[in-house]
Amino acid sequence: MSGLSERFARHALVLGFRQDRLAAATVVIAGVGALGNVVAQALALAGVGKLVLCDPDEVAASNLSRAPLFRPADVGRPKVLAAKDTLAALAPETVVVARQAALVSGVGLAEMRDASLVVGCLDSRAARMSLAGRAGLVRARWIDAATSAWGGEVRPFLDPDGPCYACALSPEERAKSDVPWSCMDPRRPAELGSSAPVAGLVGAWASALAARVIMGEAAATDAVVIDVLRGAAEPLRMQRAPDCPLHAPIGEATRIPLGSDATVGALRAALGPGARPLAWSPLLQRLECPRGDHAEEAWGMPCTRGCPRCGTLMRARTTLLFESAPEGAVLSDLGVAPREILAVLGRVGITYVELS
Ligand SMILES: [Zn+2]
Ligand SMILES: [Zn+2]
Repeated sequence: MSGLSERFARHALVLGFRQDRLAAATVVIAGVGALGNVVAQALALAGVGKLVLCDPDEVAASNLSRAPLFRPADVGRPKVLAAKDTLAALAPETVVVARQAALVSGVGLAEMRDASLVVGCLDSRAARMSLAGRAGLVRARWIDAATSAWGGEVRPFLDPDGPCYACALSPEERAKSDVPWSCMDPRRPAELGSSAPVAGLVGAWASALAARVIMGEAAATDAVVIDVLRGAAEPLRMQRAPDCPLHAPIGEATRIPLGSDATVGALRAALGPGARPLAWSPLLQRLECPRGDHAEEAWGMPCTRGCPRCGTLMRARTTLLFESAPEGAVLSDLGVAPREILAVLGRVGITYVELS
């Protein structure tokens, strides 16, 4: 027996277990907190070929009690890199790609479209809305995992023509949470109570479902609500809301020989005159002191800081038009993800280009 077949010998005893399909799969994990740790660990051990980990944050001491991939020496390091190191030791056959960014800047639409599955391990409605919106644009399949104090929910969104995450929200809830996930948003997700046993429970459920989906085996299409106090896991039927705004996928994208490491000038040259490429989330253009004593040009991800003259928090002016940015600005510095698909406003309406 070869090393790999020995490693997966117990899988081979499970009826219908498709090791080859796991090995060929790419799974994007959005959010690498406690839940994302559990999911990444389970899928890497199961033999998933490639994991793309996306999370903007660094390991905090309070993560250590809940996240099996982090070590005390990792405090202060990017979560995605700490997780990648542990996974390399646990499951050396799995390729792990680490993206320290919010989802919109970390994983391009083309990469989401081509992934076998996306698993959302996020901790706020705004971040889930961002994932649901991007998944809807390219009809990507995803599973949402969420914990409560003693239980949680796992929601599969596997049919692009079925219900989506936002279908269950009221128009007010959708509007309130449809904000870019950035440091400009003063409403950072509130810290939620969470523990290793519960993250393990919910993350394991999501991982088992993910494995079934990747293997192409029949899997539950209903959400499940897990409640330890009641000793029950019950299906929750989801329904497609006709007024939900997230059901408008983008059209076919034309590939261009530029990556997110290209400059704004190169992008404009590649698209030709009259084409106006658009950002999916606002680009910071200018910072202005509300007291009017200072203003500065500032390109990059939306962010703010205190006025150098009076210390008041400056107002950020943003734009969705790349043409306003300096020629030499690099797309990734403006928050454009690798393999992003960009909408381009032109004379014939909106078309789409896919970065290489
Ligand atoms: Zn919907
Ligand atoms: Zn000022």
